[in-house]
Amino acid sequence: MRIAGIRALTLALMVPPLISRGDAPFHNLVSSENRVPSTAFAHFQPDPAEPPLPPETLRELVTVEHGTLPIILSVPHGGTLPIPQAVERQGRGLSDFQTVRDAWTAELAAACVIELERQLRGKPWLILARFDRKFLDVNRPAERAYESRSAKVVYEYYHRSVAAACQQVRRRWHCGLLLDIHGQGEYPEAICRGTLNGRTVRRLLDCHGWAALVGKHGLFGYLQRQGYKILPDCLADVKTREISNYQGGYIVATYGSHTDYGIDAIQVEIGLRLREQGRWRQTARDLATAIALYTEEFLSP
Ligand SMILES: [Zn+2]
Repeated sequence: MRIAGIRALTLALMVPPLISRGDAPFHNLVSSENRVPSTAFAHFQPDPAEPPLPPETLRELVTVEHGTLPIILSVPHGGTLPIPQAVERQGRGLSDFQTVRDAWTAELAAACVIELERQLRGKPWLILARFDRKFLDVNRPAERAYESRSAKVVYEYYHRSVAAACQQVRRRWHCGLLLDIHGQGEYPEAICRGTLNGRTVRRLLDCHGWAALVGKHGLFGYLQRQGYKILPDCLADVKTREISNYQGGYIVATYGSHTDYGIDAIQVEIGLRLREQGRWRQTARDLATAIALYTEEFLSP
């Protein structure tokens, strides 16, 4: 299944890279929600007679791989497929509306999974969107994520899959790490950390402190030592605020360890230079090594 997926992903290599402004932070989503006029979604008229999408179509639109490690990768914005019967979103009245694909993130995540399997001899969980963000944005609350019934079905499938992965990881290992993989073009050489300024990794901070993220053996600390530019810088005061556009969206806000799901969740916004022209292969290997070191240091029994 994964090999077939990789073959499918190679088709995307023909598409020129796009620059994404990333995801609006969750606190902005909440505040902007209050500004959305009640008529904003008047154009979305679900047809109750419309047949639901068959299971095989859902599986084509969202890749879900069950894992054997307490690691979950979510990749919501790297897809290119249309959703049958869905209209392209218009985003009327939304100040944080985005339809741009996070180019190469699907390829990068798939390569990261393979490298993690090699290094840890186990499989991470993978929930990977193959649908185009024009039709659905799963990193938004439902009322701002879709504008057609079939996209709603895919939205619920994606989130059911992430929720189930979190619950199974929690049940088996009691703790785990969810990485929500994105791309941004504003800081093309950098990787931005998004934890809602520590909220979505509360358990990790309580157990291990900031060293688990920014220390010598921390997830981002390792990457910075390998020469990656990390924002905020790992040597900065731990109270340094995360960059507002990339501090974490709906997915990490929903499943982080500040919630009942109890899984430490981090939005990872990878700069364009670290993804384009095949550079994503090296970035994937380095990210996998950082995750493997983190797993052995902080998630092993
Ligand atoms: Zn994104």
